[in-house]
Amino acid sequence: MKQIKSIYNKLLNNYMPQGWWPINNIYKKRTSLTNNEKFEIIIGAILTQNTSWTNVEKALNNLRNNNCLSIKSILETKQSTLAQYIKSAGYFNQKAERLHIIANFLLQNSIDELQNMQIDELRQLLLSVKGIGPETADSIILYAFQKPIFVIDAYTKRIMSRTGLCRKDVTYDELQTIITNNIEKDTELFNEYHALLVEHAKRYCNNKPLCKDCIISSFCKKLI
Ligand code: SF4
Repeated sequence: MKQIKSIYNKLLNNYMPQGWWPINNIYKKRTSLTNNEKFEIIIGAILTQNTSWTNVEKALNNLRNNNCLSIKSILETKQSTLAQYIKSAGYFNQKAERLHIIANFLLQNSIDELQNMQIDELRQLLLSVKGIGPETADSIILYAFQKPIFVIDAYTKRIMSRTGLCRKDVTYDELQTIITNNIEKDTELFNEYHALLVEHAKRYCNNKPLCKDCIISSFCKKLI
């Protein structure tokens, strides 16, 4: 399926590198990350569940402005207060509980220890944490720990199924395998491809797809 790489090239040439994952609202390519930056990405990956990134940015800014963006400060803050700080991200009571859970988890499993794990071991461990499913776990592994695993989300499924590269009811694991079997296993490529798919879904391949002007129209079966 050469198409998968061709779609990537087309998206990259048109949209340019996306600079994911944004840290402190700044999008740029980062070859290495501090533990504080990794922590912010982990928190962002949890907050972004079922909401847009704009809402997450507000929540992260609130946490930052209240000196509440560290393991210690999150654990020292009551869940009800955390919920107020992250209100913009939606499901704020549930997410406040999850921030406490992940902070406790990181107290027992340091970021350095997690960084040194193999992908499979790290993924299993993250999936054992309440509130962390495959998409969140893979986002953390790819963007915080900079290890090569492909993140699947609703946008990825939508674009790949419309182009005809997978079934509409494809599972998370199936689509992850289809994509990773057809491109190089490379952290930078996986980072960029996922970000580009999100951008493309927002610009063209949304609920009312703009197929006439779409930049990957020639690769697409338009199975809408
Ligand atoms: S041609 Fe249409 S369906 Fe296909 S990727 Fe573009 S916008 Fe989506």
